[in-house]
Amino acid sequence: MLNVMKSAVFLLFIGAALAASGAHPSVEFSTKAGPLKLTAIRHASFMLEAGGKVVHVDPWSQGDYSGLPKADLLLITDSHPDHFDLKAIDLVRRPDTIVIAPPVVAEKLPGARILRNGDSTNAAGFQIEALPMYNVKRGPAEGQVYHAKGRGNGYVLAWGAFRLYIAGDTEFTPEMRALKNIDAALICMNLPYTMPPEEAAEAVKAFRPKVAIPYHYRGSDPGVFEKALAGSGIEVRILDWYH
Ligand SMILES: [Zn+2]
Repeated sequence: MLNVMKSAVFLLFIGAALAASGAHPSVEFSTKAGPLKLTAIRHASFMLEAGGKVVHVDPWSQGDYSGLPKADLLLITDSHPDHFDLKAIDLVRRPDTIVIAPPVVAEKLPGARILRNGDSTNAAGFQIEALPMYNVKRGPAEGQVYHAKGRGNGYVLAWGAFRLYIAGDTEFTPEMRALKNIDAALICMNLPYTMPPEEAAEAVKAFRPKVAIPYHYRGSDPGVFEKALAGSGIEVRILDWYH
C-alpha cells in the first residue's frame, strides 16, 4: 500500500507531450526533488532537465539538436558511433560541461572524467554510478561479443531519491537482475546488438522498475515489450525515438 501511495505521489506523469523541446517527445517525472524531464532525441540519445541543470546522454548527429540547451553534464556509455560522436558532442558541450565516460571513450575525449564499472561520483546535482553493460552471448562471430564486459558503462543516475537506470547496450546480465529501487529504466532492445524485446521484458520483470521506457529499439517492436509486461504492475512508456 505504501508503495502504491508513493507511486501515486511521486510518479505522476505530467505529460508525454510533443511540447517544449521542439518536436521531440518527452516525459516528466514528479520527484521529491522537483520535476525531472526526459526528452527523447534519437535512438540512445536523450536529454534530462532537473533543477535548472541539463544532462545530455550519448549525443548523436542523427538527432536534431537545434534549439536544445547545452549540457551541464554529459554522459557517454560506449565507443560505438551511435553513442560516441565527436560532432554531436560539439553541439552540446560548453567549456565547463562535466563529461563522464568509460576509459575507452575518455582517452579520445580530452577533459573527460573516467568512470569505470562500479565507480560512483557526483556532478551537476546528480549522483552517478557506472554499471557494466555487455553481451552475454551475442556477437559478430563465434566466441566474440559486440560489447565486451568492462568496456562500456550503463548508469544509474540519482536525482534526490529518484533513480533512473540507463541500460546502455546490453543483454540481460546478472548485474541488471541485482538492480534495486529503480524508479525509471531506459531499456535497449535491438538485434543483433543487444537483446530482443522479450528478453528485455524478462530483465525488467526481474528488477522491477516502476516505469520502463524502451529506447535503442531500431528494428524491434517495443509493443512486444509492452505486451509482455501487461499486468506486471510495471508501467511501460513508449516514446517515439525515431521521429
Ligand atoms: Zn548502440
